Amino acid sequence: MSDPQPRYRRILLKVSGEVLMGDAAFGIDQDTLSAVAEDIAEVVRQGFELCLVVGGGNIFRGVSLAGKGMERASADYMGMLATVMNALALQGALEKVGVHTRVQSAIPMDAVCEPYIRRRALRHLEKGRVVIFAAGLGAPFFTTDTPAALRAAEMGCDALFKGTSVDGVYTADPKKDATATRYDCLTYQEVLAQDLRVMDASAIALMRDNEIPIVVFSIRGRGNLLSVLTGDGVHTTIENPKRAALAG
Ligand code: UDP
Repeated sequence: MSDPQPRYRRILLKVSGEVLMGDAAFGIDQDTLSAVAEDIAEVVRQGFELCLVVGGGNIFRGVSLAGKGMERASADYMGMLATVMNALALQGALEKVGVHTRVQSAIPMDAVCEPYIRRRALRHLEKGRVVIFAAGLGAPFFTTDTPAALRAAEMGCDALFKGTSVDGVYTADPKKDATATRYDCLTYQEVLAQDLRVMDASAIALMRDNEIPIVVFSIRGRGNLLSVLTGDGVHTTIENPKRAALAG
């Protein structure tokens, strides 16, 4: 590792489906996929341990079809299947740049990938493999935020990294409000009380209860993931007040 004492060694990176579609309105953009894979490969080469939870919003979100009359649970299962497609796409892109990976799905799909088995996933991480968790929790009425938080806790991760198209948490939507400013640090409680919509409230509460920091950064810029991990990159950290005060 370039920094002799990076704060985080094992992280869970949540990649939303929207990131994978690049500038398109739907699906997977190959160039974006390759860029994300290259960034992940770089941090693996530096000795960090990484697991991923991938979303499915670039293909399908249950809530959108439920809004048009489809039963919500069935629509959510379709959303979970979309996350499996993204996981396989990411796996392919990562293997192309020399990263060893395993996909584990919360909905067993023997012919496609491994089922989610916590101890096996931990072993993969210890061996330097990137584990991609697919199909969320395997249960409807969730997005992939809560599975990202749950897997981060189960895998003993030092932090949950949320890779978005914005470089942190802002006072208002920076795409709509030019006066919006970025927070360097927030507490879980501030995020929940101010309804800052960084992640689902259940995910934030889970990270608060297990004292796992959430790091929000832009995954769009090449090399950002490594910069944030080694302490240089722009981001917002969400953590408990004691840690936040020490960092400030
Ligand atoms: N989903 C679900 N349970 C889960 C995870 C995901 O039902 O545990 C479904 C849900 O319909 C969700 C979709 O899968 O909208 C895709 O995930 P998400 O919306 O989180 O994708 P992202 O916004 O990260 O691209």
